[in-house]
Amino acid sequence: MSAESLKHLVIGVVVFGFLVEKILSYLNVKRPVPQVPDTLIEYLTFQKLNESKAYQLENYRFGLYSGIFSFVLTILFIWNGWFGMIDSWIGTFVPSPLFQSVVFFAVIFIGSDLLSLPFDYYGTFVIEEKYGFNKTTVRTFFGDKIKGYVLSILVGGGLLVLFLWLIHQMGAHFWWIFWIIASVFMVVVNLFYTAWILPLFNKLTPLEEGELKHRIIHYARSVNFPLDNILVMDGSKRSAKANAFFSGFGKRKKVVLYDTLLDQHPPEELVAVLAHEVGHYKKKHIVLGMITSVLQVGLLLFLLSQFIFSETMSLALGGEEWSAQLNIIGFTMLFTPISMVIGIGMNWLSRKHEFEADEFAKETFAGKPLAEALKTLSVKTLSTINPHPWYVFVNYSHPPLLERLARLES
Ligand SMILES: [Zn+2]
Repeated sequence: MSAESLKHLVIGVVVFGFLVEKILSYLNVKRPVPQVPDTLIEYLTFQKLNESKAYQLENYRFGLYSGIFSFVLTILFIWNGWFGMIDSWIGTFVPSPLFQSVVFFAVIFIGSDLLSLPFDYYGTFVIEEKYGFNKTTVRTFFGDKIKGYVLSILVGGGLLVLFLWLIHQMGAHFWWIFWIIASVFMVVVNLFYTAWILPLFNKLTPLEEGELKHRIIHYARSVNFPLDNILVMDGSKRSAKANAFFSGFGKRKKVVLYDTLLDQHPPEELVAVLAHEVGHYKKKHIVLGMITSVLQVGLLLFLLSQFIFSETMSLALGGEEWSAQLNIIGFTMLFTPISMVIGIGMNWLSRKHEFEADEFAKETFAGKPLAEALKTLSVKTLSTINPHPWYVFVNYSHPPLLERLARLES
């Protein structure tokens, strides 16, 4: 294939990805506001549903404008060969190919982050603020940005340098060597996430003694699930939205509850939420999730290795000669349809797992309090109760509320 045809193919793939995403969002947002279903009558009013629609619409428009902005910019970059120009320009003052790659990615990363900053700011301080979700201050917002940068430079930068070094030094072998490194890295991060990374952004405190802790431990014992580490995280520092999750496995596993969750649910419901999380553990979803991520990274690296040493993509993106960095950029764009298919598969699996975890909670604890907790959570976050089925198929990692309630309350 000639460089020119490859360039057109990349543009075609970018256009395709953009259209699919936007058409699905459009179908989803055009769903009419439904009547309040019987099961939600104590939780929802028609007025609340309208508010949820307004929130959805506003996010849709915002996503559309920011999406068009980055879409147009991407097309301009490919069409005019700007990626190649930046790369060649860096080559004029950075002699080593490895450091040329590193500087190139640093420029792209900083550039795209600066461009997305106003959008992030608007999403947080205008949209989330308007619907009462935002709790973060400008200071925390920028503090997070800076910490995120430092973390990206230290960890992401380190991995990137290693990755590029392997490409430049190991040739075709780079993919499986980096696959091993990346897999070990993923496991280590999962194990130490609550100990190393989370405390940089949030305060974690052990759950205080009392009825809730007593009931959680009692439940955990009843399903033979030793659980010593229950942490409360100050999620309220940033958002009114609530959550709970597990991190780590084996002896290092910890459960983290957002303080916002503790504030809005009675102990009965909290134990039910925890029973759902324990379900993910007992049904091996955590390990399975880890394995599928590792396989996914392997596939990605293997495909990249089949592609990275060809000169055509570098030329297609406006480069003058073979360039690892241009090929990586081209690959991530060409990979969009494959990653969409993988994403659909992963979401399907995740929705299946959510049903199984609900089922576990229902069998080992009770379905009703979990159903109540889900209702409160869903109403508070203004989530849509009648999403478009195609949108769900592609984007939802959790089944729609009404489907979960139907099973929990049957
Ligand atoms: Zn779950």
